Parts: sequence; structure tokens; C-alpha cells
Amino acid sequence: MIKNIIKLLLVFIFAMFCEVDAQLYSDHGANRAKGDVVESVSLTQEDDLYDLTIKFYKKVSFVPRIHILPNGIQMFLSFKKPVNLPKIGKQNQGILKGYFFEKFGNSSLMFLMALKQKVEFVKKKYTKDSIKISFRKKPTIVIDAGHGGKDPGTQSPYEKYLEKNITLIIAVELRNALLKTNHYEVVLTRDKDEFVSLDDRIERAKSGNGDILISLHTDYNKDTNLRGISVYTLPSHGFGESDNKFNETLRKSKQFSKFLVGYIPNLCKIKHQACRSSDLKILKTNIPSILMELGCISNSKDSKLLLSKLFRKKVIYAILYALDEFFEKERKTSKRQVVR
Ligand SMILES: [Zn+2]
Repeated sequence: MIKNIIKLLLVFIFAMFCEVDAQLYSDHGANRAKGDVVESVSLTQEDDLYDLTIKFYKKVSFVPRIHILPNGIQMFLSFKKPVNLPKIGKQNQGILKGYFFEKFGNSSLMFLMALKQKVEFVKKKYTKDSIKISFRKKPTIVIDAGHGGKDPGTQSPYEKYLEKNITLIIAVELRNALLKTNHYEVVLTRDKDEFVSLDDRIERAKSGNGDILISLHTDYNKDTNLRGISVYTLPSHGFGESDNKFNETLRKSKQFSKFLVGYIPNLCKIKHQACRSSDLKILKTNIPSILMELGCISNSKDSKLLLSKLFRKKVIYAILYALDEFFEKERKTSKRQVVR
């Protein structure tokens, strides 16, 4: 028993940290040998929703024990009669690191699937000859705290704080709030007071596999009466891209920004939503992106508000509600596609 547990742990650790390659199990009835129980394994995708289906040969009776892990699925299958170890090949595609079977004793199998992304369980369904488990990739939110290090951004003329510091504070508070929901993964382009070039920010956002990028800034205006939050997306034209991928990304950016702008007036005044091109290079990541000016620190009221934890909490909730609404809507409109 202890030997089995150690073996299992080793296999599991191996699967989580290495690229495990396992091919689709593709045995068919005609070649079925005595003791073969698994007919096929398949993984299908519908946007961020995945279905893992294990099909068994008819009249194979099994008792499953299923564990949903943060990065995969583990299953123990007990059969009434001795079973063969299903054949394994190679697979490393999309979200999948790999999956394989292990034999335990004469009549039990362990199935382990390792994934490259964190997932959340949606539902499971058993029939007499199949197990279907649905899970969902957690959306990854890239939070970009504007400026940092040698680039301080603007400065409040009143409380004398710097844009680079307040954007980092809000970025960290937003990250904590998103992680607390357990529905999101978060990548920060910087988590300390460091200078990160625009190209490096874009690189960090892309390598983080983000689904939405939120770049945080504060505004500054010569007219100290001007105040409020603004939300920017890339303009539809003027950046030279006209391909479908760009249009789809822009559609998502605008959709998210629309939801976000909808939640903000309850909190504070919102400025006219304009398109400005100077800071917007960060939005060119191929990820749906928005840039938020969280207030004008050149205005005494806004400058004070940004120091209020309660105000920041309200802004963070607006972002959270907008994200929830955005992903719910995207899930509803997505089409089903089979990738494997
Ligand atoms: Zn800025």
C-alpha cells in the first residue's frame, strides 16, 4: 500500500513538472483483447470549457474515484475482473501536458491527466460505459501597473505621491481580490518598484497567456478642475492592423470596456471616453486590453480619493463585476469545437 502511494506520488510529481507525452488511446472493439477495458479517451474544447471523456467497452463495470486537481485530473478505477494497462503514446497539445494510465494490482487503473493551466471543475457525468468530466480554464488577467523604477509617471501636486506607486498598490489589491474569487488566474507585469520597458511588459503579458489585460494609470491635466476615471481601448483604425484576429481582440476589448464603464458611474464621475495613442502601445498585445486612468491626480479631490482604500475597493469591484459579466457573455456566445 505504502509502495503504491509512493509510486503514485512520484508519477504525479513527474506529471506536474515535466512534459508528459501521452497519445490518444485509440483501441477499437475489433482489436479488443481479453482484459482491455478502455475504448477511448478524448478531450474536446468549447472556448474555455473542456470535456474529458473516457469510454469503456460495454459490460465493463467499474467504480470510479475522481479527484480534480488544480492542474489536472486524477482518477482511480476499480474493475470487477483483471484488466490490461491501456496503451499509451504521445500527446502534448493545447492545454494538455499529457495523460496516461497506471496499473494498480490486477483489477485497478489510475488515470492521470496533467494540464498546463489551472482549471476549475464544472460537472461530471457517469454512464454505464463512460465518464465525462467538464472543467474550465480559469481566465488569466494580466494586470499592468503603469510606470515604475526610474519612470515615476506623474506626481500628485497635493499629497506628493507618485503615479508609479499608486498604480502598483491598486495592481496588488486587484490581484488579491481576483485570486480570492478563485475564478481567475493573475499575472502582474511588475510586482515591485522596477522599470519595465513597454516591450517587456507586452512580452510578459503574452507569455502569461492572458485573456484580458488591464493597464493601470492615473491622469494628469493642466486644468485642475478636470477629474474622473477614463477607460481606453485601441482605436478601430490607425494602427495598421485589419486582420480578423485583431478585429476580434478589439471587439472583446470594447465589450469589456463597455461593461467596466457601466459599473463605474456608481462609484465616481467618469470622464469622456476618448482614444489617446501615446500610452496605448501596451494595448497592442493581441490580448483584449484596456487602459484605465484611475483618476486625475492633478485634481485635489481625485488625488485624495486615490489614497482612500474604500474608493480603491469600489474601483476593484467595478473591474471584478465587469470581468464576471464579460466572461459569462463570452461563454454563452462561444461555439463548440472539437480539438482532439
Ligand atoms: Zn501613466
